[in-house]
Amino acid sequence: MASQIPSLVELVSEASSLYKQTFPGETPQIAACAPGRVNLIGEHTDYNQGYVLPMALPLVTVVVGSPSPGDDAIIVTATEHADEPRRVNFSLANKGPTLSPGAPYWANYVKGVIHHYRAQPLPGFKAVVVSSVPLGGGLSSSASLEVAFYTFLQQLRPDDGDKILKAVACQQAEHTHAGVPCGIMDQFVSVLGKEGHALLIDCRSLETIPVPLADPDLVILITNSNVKHSLASRFRDKLDDVIYRRARHVIEENHRTVKAAEFLKRGAYHEFGQLMLESHNSLRDLYEVSCKDLDGLVSAAMEVNGVFGSRMTGGGFGGCTVTLLKAHVIDRTIQHIQERYHGTPTFFVTTPSEGARNLQLS
Ligand code: ADP
Ligand code: MG
Repeated sequence: MASQIPSLVELVSEASSLYKQTFPGETPQIAACAPGRVNLIGEHTDYNQGYVLPMALPLVTVVVGSPSPGDDAIIVTATEHADEPRRVNFSLANKGPTLSPGAPYWANYVKGVIHHYRAQPLPGFKAVVVSSVPLGGGLSSSASLEVAFYTFLQQLRPDDGDKILKAVACQQAEHTHAGVPCGIMDQFVSVLGKEGHALLIDCRSLETIPVPLADPDLVILITNSNVKHSLASRFRDKLDDVIYRRARHVIEENHRTVKAAEFLKRGAYHEFGQLMLESHNSLRDLYEVSCKDLDGLVSAAMEVNGVFGSRMTGGGFGGCTVTLLKAHVIDRTIQHIQERYHGTPTFFVTTPSEGARNLQLS
């Protein structure tokens, strides 16, 4: 069975309850959310200035809170998967030293967003974060946290509303404060995601073409392997051979991604699925970022009649696969993967969703 994805109403209500519990006698006044994402094709191309084709997910991070007198920010995260303490308190005055990266690690994402926020100074505030995006699974919980938080800050003190610069500020936050030199894809699609569409993004020009993806006979299945390997260093081969294969992956993956967007537009799912598989094989053999778990999930999915294509998605070495299939074979596919795969995967049946937005509190 696929995991139930909590609704926005449920997440907002969870966040509001935690807020009231944490700050007795107070109620949150503002709320915002931003989605995680799944990348359909175009892997390890974004930081190489190439093409990607992600879509925003119904898995989201929600931030609720209120302005408060003074310069202090108090932020609480509900997730038990973040490092302790889950409540942090720091001064916003003059971008003080307490805003520098440190412990707990999760707060660095938030501090980075505050640091790079495009309308300073910010007033004091209290905020609570809840999320339905699995942490560290390659569905970009980090970008959804950054973008949800940025969107929350926009209600506290509006900036000029430029969406591209908002995504760039969130990417900067991840670079300078979380120490992750990520590309622009995750933040970009979390800001600009469009319901019923994937986004073909040119990561060099930041030009974006929405590609309709709302066929009711089609399902996008995410399978989380729930494993995470540390980045293996693989310098067993001659360096020039390694560089050749890495570069070849990026060049061919860019071609695949542009072609895949065309196929998707035409509803040519078989052809699209074939490119997904080629992408996976290239990530496995040329870029060398797959692992046995992901390879196993992909082969299991491909054995089911009605599955168009499947590939690892995200950085690799664990995390998730994404599979495109006919809607009526979804149960059979999940069951088959469960039988074939020696692990405890979780499944999400997803649809392309809207990017970051403000939420109403009842
Ligand atoms: P991914 O973005 O693929 O989920 P990352 O390693 O890039 O994986 O980011 C995961 C990290 O982001 C977590 O370890 C945590 O520090 C931070 N994070 C994401 N969501 C939350 C959240 N809701 N609360 C606290 N920290 C979070
Ligand atoms: Mg991330």
